[in-house]
Amino acid sequence: MQNKKPFLSVVAPCYNEEDVIDIFLEKIFAVLTELNKSYEIVFVNDGSSDRTLEILITKAEEYDAIRVINLSRNFGKEAALSAGLDMTFGEVVVPIDVDLQDPPDLILDFVKKYEEGYDVVVGKRVDRTTDSFVKRISAETFYKLHNKISDIEIPNNVGDYRLMSRRVINELKRLPETQRFMKGLFSWLGFKTAIVEYKREARVAGETSFNGWKLWNFALDGITSFSTAPLRMWLYIGITLASISFVYGFFIILKTLIFGISSPGYASIITIILFLGGIQLVGIGMLGEYVGRIYIESKNRPIYIIEDEY
Ligand code: UDP
Ligand code: MG
Repeated sequence: MQNKKPFLSVVAPCYNEEDVIDIFLEKIFAVLTELNKSYEIVFVNDGSSDRTLEILITKAEEYDAIRVINLSRNFGKEAALSAGLDMTFGEVVVPIDVDLQDPPDLILDFVKKYEEGYDVVVGKRVDRTTDSFVKRISAETFYKLHNKISDIEIPNNVGDYRLMSRRVINELKRLPETQRFMKGLFSWLGFKTAIVEYKREARVAGETSFNGWKLWNFALDGITSFSTAPLRMWLYIGITLASISFVYGFFIILKTLIFGISSPGYASIITIILFLGGIQLVGIGMLGEYVGRIYIESKNRPIYIIEDEY
């Protein structure tokens, strides 16, 4: 069903997914046949070190509708997804994880909503019992915090699995940042959005590449990309501490004037010094987080590099 301008482009970033590709294709082909519209499947090989690329290339040779974008190294999921989205031709685009955690049949519902006139249709996970307890709690906390302090709201439990129309993709391409927190960028774009609920499945095979440390950094990225609240809060922390110090200083002077000097005070002095030192370092660290982001953005490097296309 190859077509220069297909109706649907499915974008699947792959990083060491050799065990999953066959099952994924089987499932997605079933859904696409049912949909009965022209389509393309764009795989992005994100610098896999296993046989993923080899397998993908054979698939691309076998099926016209399959295209493979091979990145020059591992750029991370957000960059791989950007690469895939940039390379699509479809009237609508659906990014999807190859591990089948996003059930492909949902695409049918996505398209139905699109035809009702929505530019964006997001998949919302109603049941995350397949994710670990820690992941669920940390995700929930992250969304809450993020939405409280950012200008844009990322709906709770909505991931990258969604449908976007061509004009949304065109706008997405205009966002120049190199550090791409896709979920945030998607929300930032706006447009008329519909929600379709689904149950998040467990991975069919292979292993997740997001461990605790990577997720923590991902969360930091998300917050610093869309909010300056962590910078601004130091103004208020500073004002509060200065006010307290002022009152306390006044009290000490008064006390000294009335009762004279009493020398003990080692404990309180050391506590105050350590506390202020610590809090200043945290503040500087926060500042550093943003300076680092400015530094990276200012280099203006490309988000990804494509080595080959099959
Ligand atoms: N992925 C990628 N590059 C990476 C890490 C992951 O392209 O550096 C892909 C991976 O192949 C999968 C999707 O991103 O299709 C989601 O990854 P994973 O299942 O590991 O994440 P989780 O579902 O645990 O959030
Ligand atoms: Mg997964």
